[in-house]
Amino acid sequence: MKDKTRCVVTPEPELSGFRSLAPATYRASTIVFSDAHAYATRGERGIDGYSYGLYGTPTTRMLCDKLTGLAGAARCLLVPSGQGANAIAAMAVVSAGDHVLITDSAYPAMRSFADLDLARSGVEVEYYDPTSVADLKRRLRPNTRLVWCESPGSSTMEVQDLPDIVAVAHAAGALVGCDNTWSTSLLLKPHRFGVDIVTEALTKYAGGHSDLLMGAITFSSDEVAKTVRAFIGRAGIGVSPDDATLVLRGMETMALRMSHAAVTAESLIGRLLDHRAIAEVLWPPLPTSPGHAIWQRDFIGASGVFSVLLADGFSQNLDAALDAMKTFLIGASWGGTRSLVAPMSVGEWRTVRPWEREDLIIRFSVGLEDVSELEADLDAFLAALCGQKTTTGDATPAV
Ligand SMILES: *Cc1c(COP(=O)(O)O)cnc(C)c1O
Repeated sequence: MKDKTRCVVTPEPELSGFRSLAPATYRASTIVFSDAHAYATRGERGIDGYSYGLYGTPTTRMLCDKLTGLAGAARCLLVPSGQGANAIAAMAVVSAGDHVLITDSAYPAMRSFADLDLARSGVEVEYYDPTSVADLKRRLRPNTRLVWCESPGSSTMEVQDLPDIVAVAHAAGALVGCDNTWSTSLLLKPHRFGVDIVTEALTKYAGGHSDLLMGAITFSSDEVAKTVRAFIGRAGIGVSPDDATLVLRGMETMALRMSHAAVTAESLIGRLLDHRAIAEVLWPPLPTSPGHAIWQRDFIGASGVFSVLLADGFSQNLDAALDAMKTFLIGASWGGTRSLVAPMSVGEWRTVRPWEREDLIIRFSVGLEDVSELEADLDAFLAALCGQKTTTGDATPAV
């Protein structure tokens, strides 16, 4: 071999005797073939074969297999973000003239995608009450192709009755999809209830370190998976194997991170519940949270994301209260190691069940910091809501 060729041809080392616990990152655009026949028949390799980097490398397959197993699904596809998973799953299964029913509590970007892009494609978009299967049933039509769920709902945390929703939707000939980001497959396995398509923002708990974006779509049947896979191939949508390696790493600690976040969330919520500045905390394990009984029946546990509603008259001090926190950072994309807080407005995103309370929800995501510092932050937050000044950066409770 001449030197210039040596520079571009990498020797393949002997692998026998080497076994690492770290999944290898296989990068590829092109896949090379052993002979002319293998190339000519590459189209016959099917959904599990390798034919082009966009359709997966061993690294993305490892991640898919892990997610498929955890979800109890038949198949998994990876896409560049959680919202990508929602939009792509819906887009791939509906056609002009179809009707889709979306929970009124859906992730806002999913609503915008449906209202603008599905509608632009000739799909009729309608919303239903997340807390009423009767309301959903009334709205089903012969051309309803997809019923979209998210349980618990974004920010407002309504837990939905997935088994009942699946029963009425399937009886009407519709597919059921569900955004399972809050729970991950560790806490809720929607496929077990017959949900056809489950999406998850791996960006959140699976990635777990606020440094990547990825989404997963899992399917209970190969047939629907093949439809969506063909669509993402035509649309040229794929993910980076390097990011897949990061998700594989993140998932190794996901169960511990999530159970820790739930325990911490419970103790922090205990501090908020009886305070005069707080009207309500929305978190499915609380008996007052919407759909609590369904959560108890269907879920294995809770994640560390909860919402807080302020009592009347306290929102005027919100900015000072947010600024009083030092360990909780202000930010939206939760599920990482750092605790986050973000004020949200939901009024404009509710059309079936108008949001009649003050249009301000403060969403908390609990991370892995020392609990005493998170408690001190909440005390500073509550004091500032009440108009009291506190010394910041001090782990001593301020009230
Ligand atoms: C964050 C989130 C998404 C979007 O995930 P990205 O990866 O940020 O696009 C979708 N659904 C829910 C419920 C989310 O919380």
